[in-house]
Amino acid sequence: MDASAIPSLSAKDYKSHIKPVWCPGCGHFGVLSALTKTLAYLRIPKQDVAVISGIGCSSRIPAYIDCYGFHGVHGRALPVAAGLKAARPDLTVIAAGGDGDGFSIGGNHFLHACRRNMDMTYVVMDNEVYGMTKGQASPTTQPDWSRSKLTPHGTGVRRFQPAAIALAAGASFIARGFAGDPNGLTHLLAQAIGHQGFAFVHVLSPCQTFRPEQKAWKQQVHACQMPPTHDAARAAELIQRDDGMALGVLYAQSLPVYHAALRDAVGLDRIEEEFQL
Ligand code: SF4
Ligand code: MG
Repeated sequence: MDASAIPSLSAKDYKSHIKPVWCPGCGHFGVLSALTKTLAYLRIPKQDVAVISGIGCSSRIPAYIDCYGFHGVHGRALPVAAGLKAARPDLTVIAAGGDGDGFSIGGNHFLHACRRNMDMTYVVMDNEVYGMTKGQASPTTQPDWSRSKLTPHGTGVRRFQPAAIALAAGASFIARGFAGDPNGLTHLLAQAIGHQGFAFVHVLSPCQTFRPEQKAWKQQVHACQMPPTHDAARAAELIQRDDGMALGVLYAQSLPVYHAALRDAVGLDRIEEEFQL
């Protein structure tokens, strides 16, 4: 569609009438704000966007955005999003969720979504805890975090490294943002949605209730010292040396996009016809 023909909407226009149930000060408010700002900035018609999630505090986000959405099953945002994108490549598909949903039960889907490189965006709001089930350690929790009654002596398990794993699994765009910087995050999300292929945006999104110490993230985050690279070896070095607080595009590469090849090879339209009731 000719961009000039699309009526200009504000970020507020992309917010639904449903009031978020998140705790006051939850980082996910910043992500919601950045995402609606991004959709307004990119002037994507509401009917051309679908936000797909799994289960968890952050996975409530589709309800708060006035576009198509699907609040699904724990850890399964990515396969649902991939199926939608395969069937409707014209849509802007955004999968969203948290660290527990995406890296634990959904971890296998994360690996394969990265290597499959479908043209969609995956936003993970990482607060290093299971918030909705009241504060258990997640895959990204520090091994010595001992505030959960389930792990009073910590987990003793090394943390899942989202950016490093995304790179190793073949993601073609990797960025890190901060929920407390909605303008910076808007900029990253716009680049992620504009990227042709699987774009992973790792968002540090503090949980005020179960990880109040994450308030310090505001002072700890910093801009990435290196410009975005398309060299996987350089990106690996950057990510390995990184303190986990560097914000920006960490890696962007142009790689063949899956759904286009899939449609050409197997004729999805024909399959669709065959399955019509
Ligand atoms: Fe946000 Fe944590 Fe409250 Fe969940 S429990 S809504 S993640 S502050
Ligand atoms: Mg979490």
